Amino acid sequence: MTLMQLYQSLRDLYGYRGWWPGETTAEIVIGAILTQNVNWKNVEKAINNLKKNDLLTFEEIHRSPVERIAQLIIPTRYYNQKAMKLKNFADFLHDKYDLSFDQMFARDGATLRKQLLQIKGIGRETADSILLYAGDKLQFVSDAYTARLLGRLGFITEKLDYDELVAFITQQIPQDVDLYKDMHAQIVHFSALVCKAKPLCEGCVFGANCVGFISSTDAHG
Ligand code: SF4
Repeated sequence: MTLMQLYQSLRDLYGYRGWWPGETTAEIVIGAILTQNVNWKNVEKAINNLKKNDLLTFEEIHRSPVERIAQLIIPTRYYNQKAMKLKNFADFLHDKYDLSFDQMFARDGATLRKQLLQIKGIGRETADSILLYAGDKLQFVSDAYTARLLGRLGFITEKLDYDELVAFITQQIPQDVDLYKDMHAQIVHFSALVCKAKPLCEGCVFGANCVGFISSTDAHG
């Protein structure tokens, strides 16, 4: 099986995922910052709180005290740290790009990635989600789900760091922004539903090809 066959199987299962959820660029960026280590339902609650309080823009986040933001994003856990990350991003956008996403995304992807990674609290997965989903930049997003799935399916046999895993994947698939968006979305969806920490291998579409297959007898025995 190739990586494109893996993607096609997931797409046949779930259809085009249409990621990332969010009506505005700011909402996509806020979601990318808040989603670390928490499920999406909790992120939605926090985003709704911000929306109800007119805080779903970086102009408002930049103006607001960090304590007020933290109170509204409590459902996302680590809310004090995440409120600080939102403030740090708002300061960056204000200081470097006059709070304009158009100006920010006019930068080439590689330069912008370096800048985003200098913001305190913004890691590679978050930076790459912002670049790909908010900025339509050709930057693949990886995560722990991706490493686990590709390991179980036998694509990778040794531990790769984040950038090595991104390079491993992008060398084998067409360079296409929509493909990058949907492939990450499919992997996350499948990993959350089926190939979980305790995988549901019985009936999995990859069962016959998967070196990580665990039968329910093995799981209980
Ligand atoms: S067979 Fe099991 S381990 Fe392999 S991809 Fe499917 S759910 Fe994951």
